[in-house]
Amino acid sequence: MGLHPAEQSNRDRALLSGWGQYPRVKARVLKPADPEEAESLLASYSGLIARGLGRSYGDASLAPVVLDTTRLSRLLEFDPLSGILTAEAGLSLDALLRWSVPRGWFLPVVPGTKFVTLGGAVASDIHGKNHHVDGSFSRHVEELDLLTSPGKWVRCSRQENPRLFEATAGGMGLTGLIGRVRLRLRKIETAFIKKTTYRASDLEAILNLFEAHASDTYSVAWIDCLARGRHLGRSLLFTGEHALWEDLPTPLRRQALQPHKNPRLRVPIYFPSATLNPWTVRWFNTIYYHLADKHLRTRFVHYDPFFFPLDSVMDWNRIYGRQGFLQYQFVIPESHGRPVLSKILERISASGLGSFLAVLKLFGHEENSFLGFPFRGYTLALDFPRTPRLEKLLTALDELVIGAGGRIYLTKDARLKNSDFQIQYPQAEAFKSLKKNWDPENRWVSCMSARLGLAGPPELCVPCLQAS
Ligand SMILES: Cc1cc2nc3c(=O)[nH]c(=O)nc-3n(C[C@H](O)[C@H](O)[C@H](O)COP(=O)(O)OP(=O)(O)OC[C@H]3O[C@@H](n4cnc5c(N)ncnc54)[C@H](O)[C@@H]3O)c2cc1C
Repeated sequence: MGLHPAEQSNRDRALLSGWGQYPRVKARVLKPADPEEAESLLASYSGLIARGLGRSYGDASLAPVVLDTTRLSRLLEFDPLSGILTAEAGLSLDALLRWSVPRGWFLPVVPGTKFVTLGGAVASDIHGKNHHVDGSFSRHVEELDLLTSPGKWVRCSRQENPRLFEATAGGMGLTGLIGRVRLRLRKIETAFIKKTTYRASDLEAILNLFEAHASDTYSVAWIDCLARGRHLGRSLLFTGEHALWEDLPTPLRRQALQPHKNPRLRVPIYFPSATLNPWTVRWFNTIYYHLADKHLRTRFVHYDPFFFPLDSVMDWNRIYGRQGFLQYQFVIPESHGRPVLSKILERISASGLGSFLAVLKLFGHEENSFLGFPFRGYTLALDFPRTPRLEKLLTALDELVIGAGGRIYLTKDARLKNSDFQIQYPQAEAFKSLKKNWDPENRWVSCMSARLGLAGPPELCVPCLQAS
């Protein structure tokens, strides 16, 4: 087979990984310039998966052939009356916000980084700090255009081909390439958030705070996962509302609709793997918890540090060293919150494997979807450096999560076993049969889909353990 034009600049296979830097696999990367080229590539290759900005942590956007969507990034149409925007799916939230904020519009749901594409946001059906009131990303999507198999573009929405829509939102790219997204934006008066910080001395106190702030638009907690005994679960809760023009202090009014700026800092090299250890994490946690004193009040902050604090330093994932790290994010039903969260925190604290980032949130209701992650309950996201002792801890946590009827977030995952996946995602078989209808040759596969028994042989991807 000859070299496709989209491959000209990518003759060699690249060593790719997700944001957690594990696993790494060798992949052929194709970068189509327009949807027609993407269509012709699908006719020429199989064993493909779409990839946006690679901010999923594990192996969801890895496959023998990767279709990089970042050139499919045109903003096509915007209706200021309805707030409905149409764009190609490779458009990043970063670029979209730069365009929309000065015009008084914001995204309906944002994750903890703006460096994700619209396609990635749909395929993971991402959630934000407002999940308890606004649901996940797909709730705000009017329709999608999807390339399911060679020559077949399909329009889907909650009304048109609804089952395909429900499989695609959260479907991790396995129903096809999302080429175009129609999305409802949110009207804003300013680019600022009215943020309030509350301190909770233990787990009981933070769960009570979540309940007390159930009607606030944005809420999320940082939790000290190394605290023990009577301090177990001590946390800071951050809530927020879009600031109105009349709320804004006069000095901020001059920049009322100013979008975010480029990050100025970058981690230039991989840190030695011992940089983040339980001592540094314990030290950081104690200082962070106590320093919150001066912030225990309402302040006006720009949306960028409120939603995307980690984006201020580019390539921060290098701090974890070349071995990479794993993000472990689960959700458990609200009814199990107190006892199971306390067991989980006790396990983590006793293991001494501190997580530098530990974020707790109360989710709202589930969307109609096959592989969507959120449901009503508590979600905790933890980042652990990859060390030999980690697997033992995570296996113990898996048992607690499954025992409570919970599940792991696929877009963060790199290690879930097929058998556990089937228990956590009871619609997996229904997803597979729907996929068979739309993608009968299984052209769309990923290292994740092979690992979880969704599509592709288990040996589809051979992780390359040598760091690049
Ligand atoms: C710092 C950080 C914070 C985060 N915070 C959150 C959070 O708060 N909430 C949350 O839900 N997630 C969060 N995430 C995860 C992130 O939002 C998702 O992994 C998102 O899918 C990444 O988008 P991407 O464009 O980088 O996609 P990739 O990582 O490249 O791909 C992710 C998945 O989407 C599929 N995909 C991408 N583009 C397309 C397309 N055009 N068509 C079909 N499939 C496609 C891929 O095949 C893959 O399965 C966070 C990630 C980071 C690094």
